[in-house]
Amino acid sequence: MTKNMNGAELVFLPLGGAGEIGMNLNCYGYGPPDARKWIVVDCGVLFGRETGTPGVDLMMPDVRFLEEVRDDLLGLVLTHGHEDHLGAVAHLWPRLRCPVYATPFTARLLHDKLEEAGLEARVKVKIVPLGGAVRLGPFALEFISITHSIPEPNALAIRTPLGVVVHTGDWKIDPDPLLGEVTNDRALRRLGEEGVLAMVCDSTNALVPGESGSEGEVRRSLIRLIGSLKGRLAVTAFASNVARLQSVAEAAEAANREVVLVGRSMRHMVNCARDTGYLKKFPRVIAEEESSDLPADHVLYLCTGSQGEQRAALARIAADEHPHVSLGEGDSVIFSSRIIPGNELAIFELQNQLAAKGIAVLTERDHFVHVSGHPARDELAAMYSWVKPKIAVPVHGELRHMSEHARLARELQVPQTVVALNGQMVRLAPGAAEIIDETPSGRLHLDGRLLVHEDEGFARSRRALGFAGFIGITLVLDRKGRLAAEPVLHLEGIPDIVHGAVRAAAARAAGARRAKGDIAEDVRIAARRAANEMWGKKPVVRVQIVEV
Ligand SMILES: [Zn+2]
Ligand SMILES: [Zn+2]
Repeated sequence: MTKNMNGAELVFLPLGGAGEIGMNLNCYGYGPPDARKWIVVDCGVLFGRETGTPGVDLMMPDVRFLEEVRDDLLGLVLTHGHEDHLGAVAHLWPRLRCPVYATPFTARLLHDKLEEAGLEARVKVKIVPLGGAVRLGPFALEFISITHSIPEPNALAIRTPLGVVVHTGDWKIDPDPLLGEVTNDRALRRLGEEGVLAMVCDSTNALVPGESGSEGEVRRSLIRLIGSLKGRLAVTAFASNVARLQSVAEAAEAANREVVLVGRSMRHMVNCARDTGYLKKFPRVIAEEESSDLPADHVLYLCTGSQGEQRAALARIAADEHPHVSLGEGDSVIFSSRIIPGNELAIFELQNQLAAKGIAVLTERDHFVHVSGHPARDELAAMYSWVKPKIAVPVHGELRHMSEHARLARELQVPQTVVALNGQMVRLAPGAAEIIDETPSGRLHLDGRLLVHEDEGFARSRRALGFAGFIGITLVLDRKGRLAAEPVLHLEGIPDIVHGAVRAAAARAAGARRAKGDIAEDVRIAARRAANEMWGKKPVVRVQIVEV
């Protein structure tokens, strides 16, 4: 281990995921304040929500701060392959331009994304074996296998001259994960004995009592449930939960049903898992195109679309728009998944659509078909008892999750807790942990092909346009500033009944005598007021003046 440099500090800086669910990006810095070296852990996205950000598919962290320190950026380390941890790499790497480190399955997922973005030749992805180690300047990293809801989740032990940080990544304690290693609690306990300065830890389920439950139990339950159903059967699950896919396939086999993979990401994930040595016992799958000949009781469709995504397989099946798969009266759909907050409406709409066709909808509310991939309170307590950090730093959650996590850590006798939001830099050592700086942070929106900062305000103006439409008014004025023709109106998304009142108000305001400079604003206000009086809504109004 290198000796501590004079005046060196160890700092932690979240730029995404601290105070929100999704788009995780965490930074660690070591060195004197004017010469710090940096590593980044994870680089994820958050999916856009139509109501808040119309037209925005993806959001990701603003990395302005990292662009400024790029020369001292030693690497980007990925803990696992979920979109909220690696989904932004292909978008943000051109701004970071550092080597990327990941275990084989995560690297495979990343490779396909980079290839799609045309970046695979430029980005140096270094594959780290499970349990492997990486040295990046003053940071010595050890990958520790844990359990979660995707193959190859890793915690990181980050050794620095000022102490060891355990970065848990996303985790749970699953005694029977079905795929991959069980949580390497021996390594975590060993670190605890060695002495851990700080633990940066998953807060997702800090409000949930007890334990998250095991994939093994879900498998047994799915085998029973699927064995009891007649008719066609579709199961939807997160494609990245490869252990769950295996469980559904085994339940299908036990019930004498053939497995049909429906949806591009389902087929892609199965291929990635097979290529990296998983799913060795996955049964043969039938192509979508050939599945219509199978008798109803002998088919199981494993589908994408558990979150009600409009373009995914299940939504297309529900809308009778799928070219090869159709379901109806007497068939069943199992949602082997949870509702991601924000997706409630889309999911309930989809489930109603299925119910309207006489399809039985089975979910985690009525059957044991899903477990979370994140630690509930008893698991958090176990982790703190193993690692025994001096400082607890909750991340990966909204503020209410992080605050409750901090409270739990104090109950568990952790001497110090620090709740830092995106952009708040925490000094972990030397001295007491505290927030020492604020750096620029925020969100970038992927809008079509462009990455634009949320502050550019287009989302707000699009919401306004979506809420109450648009009126464009062209005024033709002569040299003396008098109206030379009737105002020309262009109305979009305004109810017909309002048009006349707006036209009349605009003409009246334009006809009144006044200084030329005020006329546009007067007409704008008059048109808005007329719309509001009749309709109770204020559209966006723009006035253009043409002089003849
Ligand atoms: Zn995850
Ligand atoms: Zn996550």
